[in-house]
Amino acid sequence: MGTRGEIYIRSPSCTIELWRHFDSYAEYMVPYFKGFAAYAAWCASGQTHLLTYPEDLAAMVVAYDYECTLAAILSFDLKYAVKRPDARPRGRIDDFEWVWILDIPEEVTIANFSERENIVWVVRGYVWKAGDSEEMRAAIRERRDGDLKKYLKKKVEFRIEPKAAGGGCRICGYPGPLMALKDPPICAYCLLKIVRRDDFIRSEVERAIKVAPLISSPE
Ligand SMILES: [Zn+2]
Repeated sequence: MGTRGEIYIRSPSCTIELWRHFDSYAEYMVPYFKGFAAYAAWCASGQTHLLTYPEDLAAMVVAYDYECTLAAILSFDLKYAVKRPDARPRGRIDDFEWVWILDIPEEVTIANFSERENIVWVVRGYVWKAGDSEEMRAAIRERRDGDLKKYLKKKVEFRIEPKAAGGGCRICGYPGPLMALKDPPICAYCLLKIVRRDDFIRSEVERAIKVAPLISSPE
């Protein structure tokens, strides 16, 4: 059993709904959103207005989620051996214990984003109480947050500025979960670029392939 949760990424004009199967409780999700904020800033790479569009952020959440999975696989943590992102579009599924709302107070356009100093997200995490989940979803979409008390019990609220937090990859600044080396911090992408250019490492890989057991193909 996982701890299932819904994530609403909401701006004044649009709400995108995601769902996750595992670890939707606050102890996991608070650092997850903070890590995601630095990752999203890196993804946006100067196109700061993207950090105010729910569609773009929802795609980045799924990508971040998959990178968290890949990082677990690369560290041989079998607890997270599933080979797919856990966060996904919600669709018809109606099974959750937690609800998360990532609120973007104001959408920023290319025309006005240079006037904006900081983008701030407000994140709220709630535990499901009781009631009609479709009515709850309508209240979220229609921004009737006062009505949510009927359905949800608020557990946490915090603000994040999506921007580079420092301590990312020494070469490209990547701040996500796929760090290949800690000291100096180098991401898996930069390590792969280096490895692909190196004849010695290429010959070592070819040697490793010769002695590797074959992957059995399905009948
Ligand atoms: Zn890098």
